[in-house]
Amino acid sequence: MENSLMADRKSSPAGQAGGQVLEVNDLHVSYYTDAGRADALDGVSLSLNAGEKLGLVGESGSGKSTMALAMMRMIKPPGRIEGGQVIVDGTDLMALSDEEMLKARLSKIAYIPQGAMNSLNPVLRIGAQMMDAVIAHKTPLSKNDIEKRCRESLESVDLDGGVFQMYPHELSGGMKQRVCIAIGILLQPKVIVADEPTSALDVVTQRQVMETLDKVREQLGAAIILIGHDMGLMAQFVDKVAVLYAGQVMELSTVKEMFTDALHPYSEALINSLPNLENKGVFQGIPGLAPALLRLPPGCSFHPRCPKVMDHCRSERPETILQNGRTVSCHLFSQEENQAA
Ligand code: SF4
Repeated sequence: MENSLMADRKSSPAGQAGGQVLEVNDLHVSYYTDAGRADALDGVSLSLNAGEKLGLVGESGSGKSTMALAMMRMIKPPGRIEGGQVIVDGTDLMALSDEEMLKARLSKIAYIPQGAMNSLNPVLRIGAQMMDAVIAHKTPLSKNDIEKRCRESLESVDLDGGVFQMYPHELSGGMKQRVCIAIGILLQPKVIVADEPTSALDVVTQRQVMETLDKVREQLGAAIILIGHDMGLMAQFVDKVAVLYAGQVMELSTVKEMFTDALHPYSEALINSLPNLENKGVFQGIPGLAPALLRLPPGCSFHPRCPKVMDHCRSERPETILQNGRTVSCHLFSQEENQAA
């Protein structure tokens, strides 16, 4: 039997596949430290349609988690959102009051943080924690309706109704992660941001949890941003991949284009670093270190590690170029470069 949690969304226009539900425009976030200002997100733009799945990848410190927190307006001092828009279903979250943003969390955009399952309160039953999450977001629903919704949400992530009465220590890691997904979808968000949702799980459970996440995404018609560094997992799960480096999107392509014909030298390096038959399953790594945000190199921030570096890469920052529906930020694809070739 279809539960009302999913039925409500299926009947809503926003749930129909295809329409744009997320637009991020020129998002900037900085952290102010004693040593100076670090630009953790430096003009990130992307968009997603209902039902689409985007993977956000990059090395540690590339800005992936900052991006998730900024979209939720959860950046804390010394960090600051300096500018940009995050438009979900026609509403710019950056323009909302704090009270309006509180309501928007869970109902427009939900966040499943890294290690979410460890943040469940050990002394509260799962049902109570779920109901508290709904009440905290100021929903107009009655207590009975909230409980009904919580139970339906558990059912949607393939958990037995009995979980409502259980404590976190009575659940396996995979079940706890499902509870976190169930909390995330309680108010039928249009966008779900999941930060490494399966990193603490074994490979088999990882796959099952990802399948559950995919199922609820499809039922809700929500778009998903999956944050991670596991390109293999991304390849199986997402439609598009955005590669972040030093707070900038270096390339955004479909997963097939990315894996068969990556444009940006950094995307290429990320893919070549994956274990495969040629390198006998050995993890290769990318030469050099990711730059410190406080001391970004001039020009293209990837230039000290780039095997294709040209003279002007060291001084001129590349523009973001749209090429056959893909975006890439690299001088190799600039008009002048192509004309000269
Ligand atoms: Fe390499 Fe230059 Fe492209 Fe940067 S702009 S990725 S340094 S070729």
